Amino acid sequence: MHKFDPANIELLIGEERYKGMDPLEFLRSNGLIQGMYIADVGCGPGFFTLPASEIVGESGKVYAVDSQENMLKALKRRKPTGNTTIVQSDESHIPIEDGSCDMVLLAFVLHEAEEKLVFLNELKRLLRPEGRLILLDWEKKIEEKGPSFEERIEKAEAVRLIERAGLEIEETGNINPSHYKIAVRKKQEA
Ligand code: SAM
Repeated sequence: MHKFDPANIELLIGEERYKGMDPLEFLRSNGLIQGMYIADVGCGPGFFTLPASEIVGESGKVYAVDSQENMLKALKRRKPTGNTTIVQSDESHIPIEDGSCDMVLLAFVLHEAEEKLVFLNELKRLLRPEGRLILLDWEKKIEEKGPSFEERIEKAEAVRLIERAGLEIEETGNINPSHYKIAVRKKQEA
């Protein structure tokens, strides 16, 4: 699948983006608190990484994960604080230990993943038993901004894949007309 071009990072951390969404408020309202361990998978130049690091503080940890080295270089230039560990991943392998995260954030990444089911299983592996995955992606429609129609993944298809990966849907909805959100947790043992 087509990967976001690092030459266009201004679209990810430019003023316009912040006008449309406050990442600090988004993360807080989705349950991120001080002391948590979060993996921001497909972090890009860190729109969510930097605010996540502010929220979790010194007692928490942020894994900033991306498969593109140039994205991680751009993030480093923004000087993330000491609670942030930068992790270069392969397409479907993330070098982080099993069960190390309270939250995995996957913001506008699933549509770029080559092997979506394998990728979702890899994210499941990172979660603690009570951990949650928060996924954002583009509604499958033709729009001026964002990825092409063909590249987008329909919300219902994302839900199907998440369930096939053995995860449980907690909530689905939209944060605006272009972007859907799916909140996911690990299946609780009976
Ligand atoms: N999450 C960031 C944000 O919302 O600003 C960046 C979103 S950008 C559209 C998608 C990012 O996902 C890119 O930085 C890309 O390199 C990364 N990515 C795509 N496929 C990936 C994969 N399989 N594993 C890790 N990162 C991936």
